[in-house]
Amino acid sequence: MKAVLFEKFGATPKVADVPDPAPMRHDVVIKLEATGLCRSDWHGWMGHDTDITLPHVPGHELAGIVQAVGKDVRRWQVGDRVTVPFVGGCGHCPECQAGHQQVCHNQFQPGFTHWGSFAEYVSIHHADLNLVALPDAMDFATAASLGCRFATSFRAVVDQGATAGGQWVAVHGCGGVGLSAIMIANAIGANVVAIDIDETKLDFARDLGAVACVNGATTADVPEAVIDITGGGAHVSIDALGSPVTCFNSIQNLRRRGKHVQVGLMLAGHATPQIPMAKVIAHELEILGSHGMQAHRYDVMLAMVQSGKLDPARLVHGKISLAEAPAALMAMDKFQALGATVITSFG
Ligand SMILES: [Zn+2]
Ligand SMILES: [Zn+2]
Repeated sequence: MKAVLFEKFGATPKVADVPDPAPMRHDVVIKLEATGLCRSDWHGWMGHDTDITLPHVPGHELAGIVQAVGKDVRRWQVGDRVTVPFVGGCGHCPECQAGHQQVCHNQFQPGFTHWGSFAEYVSIHHADLNLVALPDAMDFATAASLGCRFATSFRAVVDQGATAGGQWVAVHGCGGVGLSAIMIANAIGANVVAIDIDETKLDFARDLGAVACVNGATTADVPEAVIDITGGGAHVSIDALGSPVTCFNSIQNLRRRGKHVQVGLMLAGHATPQIPMAKVIAHELEILGSHGMQAHRYDVMLAMVQSGKLDPARLVHGKISLAEAPAALMAMDKFQALGATVITSFG
């Protein structure tokens, strides 16, 4: 099969011919129909992710058709239309047994711990636990965009943030994760404040339901601006970018007993940001993470997509071929498209 392969971190990836994967007992092999490009893929290519061994095939936001099934797989058949969370569980550790596959002790992450989906085929371990069936009406490109940013944002807003209708939600950073969080928080009845340094992204945030916007490039004190707009601070605040500044601001702009949810990755030099811990104590703030979403929680999110309350297709920006993927991957830190780029042709 053809796959995007890199042999050194930071060196130009190539489209190479590599052996087709064959399913082990608990696995399925999926024929890719769509796979999203994500900043996590760029971090992996740069060597920021210690799970990756070389040579490597990136890609984790995938959707496709089951092509082959291992002999112990019970729930899936050749021809099924599926997607997967970017974190798969092992099924045996205490977290998996408690239903928290997103923090499994022995994680399967296509494109990180194993070869990923910038390829014609990808093998997915423990398929009975980790696959999600797609509704018939959902196209593959939309499904691929759920895999990482949208599902993680859904968990951040709904499960970790426990956001209720009428609450104020601040979303710091209006890239793919942030725009997803804005759409989801708006759909469940929250008032959303969007924060970014780019007016074009803030305009799109408004289109997706943000009731107020703060431009961080022209606002001297972002937390004060959010506290002012929300009449005392956000109930839930999300760092959707992942930087020391947005993380600090997201905690600093909370009202008493508010929740900060960290979704944007904090890698390399950003791994240990400053936290206003005196305020965390005095105001009884909660600091939470969101790390993907378990396959068994996708049903509630997919129901909201089917009913039309959520429309993740609005966040798909461009469609490219596998041959165009190496250049697009390398450019990801320079050019952040408005919405996601998805690979939809693999030949
Ligand atoms: Zn596990
Ligand atoms: Zn991703």
